[in-house]
Amino acid sequence: SKPIVAIVGRPNVGKSTLFNQIGKKRVSIVEDIPGVTRDRIYLDAEWLNTEFTMIDTGGIELETTDHILTSMRHQANLAIEEADVVVFVVDAKTGMTAADEEVAHILRTSKKPILLAVNKVDSPNKENEIYEFYNLGLGDPIPISASNALNLGDLLDQVVENF
Ligand code: GDP
Ligand code: MG
Repeated sequence: SKPIVAIVGRPNVGKSTLFNQIGKKRVSIVEDIPGVTRDRIYLDAEWLNTEFTMIDTGGIELETTDHILTSMRHQANLAIEEADVVVFVVDAKTGMTAADEEVAHILRTSKKPILLAVNKVDSPNKENEIYEFYNLGLGDPIPISASNALNLGDLLDQVVENF
């Protein structure tokens, strides 16, 4: 079966926007799991003739908790379990947060390849906004703008290199 790429990150960092930019078509809807909101989370995608399946872990909201950290720990663990490559999305506009550090910590303990995408870098002269994210200990941050479709090719090159 195809490699699986999971997208993880805080609410509002732009996961769904990225997911929709990359995805080709809807493939399925998450099973009806009690306590879990149904959302479109699986999508077929292709880059350089390599097909893969993407999961938007942000589409899985635990109804029983309003705590972002609990939900994010769940997302991160799900991603580590299911994915061949994890894309951790952070937000250049809000900067690094405690929740980002917590998720980075969980992701660093996994043996899966983790790519760090800094979203909302909407123009090339904003690329200095990525530097603080080196502190997450996940390697070189990749600046992207999901809404403006900037640098998504660089991100996808690195995704498929890690299959
Ligand atoms: P999610 O909660 O992580 O799935 O985030 P969404 O994809 O729903 O996006 C949250 C907000 O950020 C929306 O208002 C988007 O339009 C906005 N957004 C997403 N990507 C970008 C981007 O590259 N640049 C800017 N400036 N805004 C973005
Ligand atoms: Mg979303």
